[in-house]
Amino acid sequence: MYNFTPPPSDKCAGIYIHVPFCTKICPFCSFPVFRNRPDLHETYVSALLKEIELTSAQRYAGTPITSLYIGGGTPSLLSVENLVRIVNHVTKYYRVADRMTVSLECNPEGIVPEYLYALKNIGITRLSLGIQSFDDGILHRLGRVHNSEDCTRIVDAAQDAGFTNINLDLMYGTPFHTADNTMRDVERFLAYRPAHISAYALTVEPGTRFAVKTDYARQIEQQSGAISEIFAVIRDRLQGAGIYLYEVSNFAAPGAESVQNLLYWTDADYYGFGPGAHGKTGGQRRANTSNFRLWQQALHADRLPPADEETLTPDNRRDEFLMIRLRTVWGFDFDELHTHTGLTREAFLALPAVQTILRADYAELRVHRFRLTPSGLMLADRIAADISCDAARLTA
Ligand code: SF4
Repeated sequence: MYNFTPPPSDKCAGIYIHVPFCTKICPFCSFPVFRNRPDLHETYVSALLKEIELTSAQRYAGTPITSLYIGGGTPSLLSVENLVRIVNHVTKYYRVADRMTVSLECNPEGIVPEYLYALKNIGITRLSLGIQSFDDGILHRLGRVHNSEDCTRIVDAAQDAGFTNINLDLMYGTPFHTADNTMRDVERFLAYRPAHISAYALTVEPGTRFAVKTDYARQIEQQSGAISEIFAVIRDRLQGAGIYLYEVSNFAAPGAESVQNLLYWTDADYYGFGPGAHGKTGGQRRANTSNFRLWQQALHADRLPPADEETLTPDNRRDEFLMIRLRTVWGFDFDELHTHTGLTREAFLALPAVQTILRADYAELRVHRFRLTPSGLMLADRIAADISCDAARLTA
């Protein structure tokens, strides 16, 4: 496991761009996406460029951008020419750091090697590949359009194109995963020596096809103990291979942690562009409408799109700080805790929930820092909620 020292966090900011198109909607997907409409790409990109521009004029504080993350959805459905327009627009309207990371999410279907070479040439520095599994049976039951051959082809081609900073998404913990097929996948992933792996257990969100048409939610609930056990086996295998857990779902070779993730977890500002994109700047959260038509209509009329805006209250800031920081292996420094929550070290350590988790060995304490242990990290969300509840009572 990592030592107690978190990565440096100079004042910096990030940009997230949401591309709402997908080849087919997966039965577990709860993201704001819709089936690909190539005829809308032009409208989408021109509205997006307008949003980048208007936000720069109205909200941008001038902080250097260290990460541009193009996610979705399936951004790899966009042409290289459209991606160039987006990246160039960001560079034109924002102060970008010399070594800005430019990440792009790619799904394996339909990707040809020439596309990946072109991405490398236009300055994409990191690829996040939505592999999920190399097992055709699992991919089919997940409703994915790609197969294991597509997975092999895209990872080989990405490495041939010169990408070294590659994330592979790994799914586990579905009703059709076993310990055997999960670990076979882990070995296939490791064979590529990726810099980063995001490992997600399936969650069945309300309103998705899995929620409506299957009883997977109940099956997952019943198997929760076995899913935690398999996660511990995955974690130990990845860490044995030099890819370390740094957040409840994310593993990286040292130094290859996602810059975008680190921004989210260090309370940095980030701007969200595209329908349904979220941002947080200057203590305000903003979530764009996910209605594509409303989003693009506003921008084509030179207005920022409708959005839910929320100014973070001290309680929100405290809850968010605990929720985010306790999910990382670095936890937090007591000075930061005080700045974000008003709690002193002594007051925090006296909270009943904190005493309980320390007694249960779910947390480790140093003079200046506090973090969850590997077993505590598996319960991070519940632990953070319990601590928040106690802290709220203290300040009520
Ligand atoms: S590819 Fe990803 S974003 Fe698109 S539908 Fe599937 S899960 Fe959702």
